[in-house]
Amino acid sequence: MDSSEQRIKIAIQKSGRLTDHSIDLLQRCGLKVTRSKDQLFCYGENMPVDLLLVRDDDIPQLVADDICDLGICGLNIVEEKRLKMGAKSDAGLFKQVFELDFGHCRLSLAGPEGSEFKGPATLQNKRIATSYTSILEDYLATNNVSAEIVYFSGAVEITPKLGKADFICDLVSTGSTLAANGLVEVETLLNSEAIIIQTQAPLGKSKQDLVDRLLQRLDGVLQVRESKYIMLHAPRAALAKIQSLLPGTEAPTVLPLEGTEDRVAVHAVCRENVFWETLENLKAAGASSLLVLPVEKMLA
Ligand code: ATP
Ligand code: ZN
Repeated sequence: MDSSEQRIKIAIQKSGRLTDHSIDLLQRCGLKVTRSKDQLFCYGENMPVDLLLVRDDDIPQLVADDICDLGICGLNIVEEKRLKMGAKSDAGLFKQVFELDFGHCRLSLAGPEGSEFKGPATLQNKRIATSYTSILEDYLATNNVSAEIVYFSGAVEITPKLGKADFICDLVSTGSTLAANGLVEVETLLNSEAIIIQTQAPLGKSKQDLVDRLLQRLDGVLQVRESKYIMLHAPRAALAKIQSLLPGTEAPTVLPLEGTEDRVAVHAVCRENVFWETLENLKAAGASSLLVLPVEKMLA
């Protein structure tokens, strides 16, 4: 086996909404990369992991064809591809490993302001512009609606104004693009965020071990994002109440305090952000000397 085959290849978006987040996430897992001159390839300096920079639409195929071992892209793209390829074969295409908590958006139906939408039946015999033809087709079939799907690869939101469609089916995050084009969202077909997918092909022991390590680190990075380490002093008698106020904690560490019997120190990892309100409630329950610290790394 040639040594390049022992390296893990991860496909990420070359340039777009997901690029910086994807690179940042992998760097937080300890990966150091240098970009090649053509900017299509990043060589992992300190781990046998390389990045392939491609259009997000190509990522599911690259992983399904086992050209890349892992890929990071939106669930919207993965779902569209899965439905498209599923039409040809039912075989498993890739493992969906987990959600990465960025690139949040939704694939929604929208129509011109004032258009009436009373459920899917409203779409009967209408023209709907989209680049997500498979997801839309699936939605229409599930709802027994027959409509004309008009494919547009971009600028879908201007098609109603041009008289090319009655409704559109497109990605929305804030809704400001829809509003700017005189459109209103009427139905959500899919809630999406960036996910990491893995090839179904067996990787061999050493590669799989490395992928497992990388995924474990990724999981740790995602967990610490919101996590805080909280330290406080509390009356022993108020421990149960205080523990119930700590957001997202398992059993906290309780330590004796020198020179006092009835007060203890409590240390806990909170897997959610700790807001001022929580601190005020803890104080009201008898806690003092409250300290909240960021968590940098976590290994479960
Ligand atoms: P490429 O050149 O890679 O094909 P693109 O124009 O298709 O780029 P972007 O606009 O960068 O892609 O969006 C990439 C992904 O970001 C989307 O597939 C989606 O998962 C996510 N995303 C999050 N919010 C939005 C949004 N408001 N509009 C479009 N995509 C969004
Ligand atoms: Zn794209």
